[in-house]
Amino acid sequence: MAMKILGTCIDCGACIEECPNEAIVTGEGIHVIVPDRCTECVGAFETPQCQDRCPIDDCIVADPERSEPREELALRYARLHAC
Ligand code: SF4
Repeated sequence: MAMKILGTCIDCGACIEECPNEAIVTGEGIHVIVPDRCTECVGAFETPQCQDRCPIDDCIVADPERSEPREELALRYARLHAC
């Protein structure tokens, strides 16, 4: 499951540096998570770092439309970081 940034985003950008997959980009007034690059931080951290860092409660949530098993997220992380 990829994470998703909701409209309550204040566009502070605090999440960008936390992402191990460079999955967060600037959108129109809010930041946006590119689902194909998000692994919920599987492969790098125990918890989604963007969610941990975000100063707004419940602004970054798991996207129910992007449900994926942990194994798939781990494979994506490996693919993204293959040299
Ligand atoms: Fe990046 Fe992790 Fe947030 Fe996904 S959950 S956007 S991989 S920081």
